Amino acid sequence: MTTTLGKCSEPVDNPGGWSSHPCGKRVTVIENDKGYCTRHSPAYKARKQRERHQRYEAERAASKAIADAAAEQRRRAACYPELLAALEIFADPATWLKQGNTHAIPVKATLIAQAAIARAKKETP
Ligand SMILES: [Zn+2]
Repeated sequence: MTTTLGKCSEPVDNPGGWSSHPCGKRVTVIENDKGYCTRHSPAYKARKQRERHQRYEAERAASKAIADAAAEQRRRAACYPELLAALEIFADPATWLKQGNTHAIPVKATLIAQAAIARAKKETP
């Protein structure tokens, strides 16, 4: 049996894309009883398509992660004034006393709140 691999006959677009010509490269792969150059082998094209799809999915996931992180930052920033106001009330022992709180003021919690307020306002506690 004489094996003449011949040339790849897969169509390749001409410049402009309105017409095509046969590839013409040396056949290196036989798939489904048809010869292809390495680049036009259906297995190679399928692998490349999978790789493109995986890259696309990875980029999409990365973009989504960035967008999600930015949305989370905006959400946190939106509640910042209320949290700071609540902390300021909590951190002021006078508030506790004014409300007739007879229990011991949670000093440690007050100190932590004061430190958080200072950091939020970029002051040194
Ligand atoms: Zn080819």
